[in-house]
Amino acid sequence: MGMPAIFIRLHGCNLRCSWCDSKYTWNDSEDYKEMSEKQILKKIQKYRTKHIIITGGEPLIQEIYPLVRDLKRADYKIHIETNGTIYKPFLRQLDCVVVSPKPPSANVKATFKIKEFKRLKNAYFKVVIKNESDWKWAKKLSKQINPKILYLIPEGGVDFSFLSKKIKKLDDNMRIGIQLHKIIWGDKRGV
Ligand code: SF4
Repeated sequence: MGMPAIFIRLHGCNLRCSWCDSKYTWNDSEDYKEMSEKQILKKIQKYRTKHIIITGGEPLIQEIYPLVRDLKRADYKIHIETNGTIYKPFLRQLDCVVVSPKPPSANVKATFKIKEFKRLKNAYFKVVIKNESDWKWAKKLSKQINPKILYLIPEGGVDFSFLSKKIKKLDDNMRIGIQLHKIIWGDKRGV
């Protein structure tokens, strides 16, 4: 955290979370641009950082291995953010996989591939917490993935009043997570 990084935000998602903060990625009325791997590489080369975060939407609904391969050849460090419903073996080759299964307040029906992602050495988990039901759900998840780390993020990203009351009840593998970009820029896009 705290390092400059380039976000490659892919279009489309297989879920529809009630509090999604990037609905523009799957709302077809919004504009998006189809780009080849070559065009993406050309566009990101103007930035000095070699850290990439591939996100969405849900990036794994697209065939992204060719992009991953080209980014690795160009010596980029690759992180990916996924909702955990789709598992691909090439994820082992990435520098970091952030898995974010959705708690009850997201109001989605989905099967999260927790066992597959737990086996990945480069994965850690993150869950959005809005209320007591989410907290209980997260406690079960933390036991399931232990000793992997589970970051708890407040819904909306910046109001820690609910989570602050839970600090003494955190499991050893639970951490309060911070979305630094939300604290600095809020919901502003393209920063
Ligand atoms: S999985 Fe992520 S991008 Fe998709 S709807 Fe949920 S919060 Fe939004």
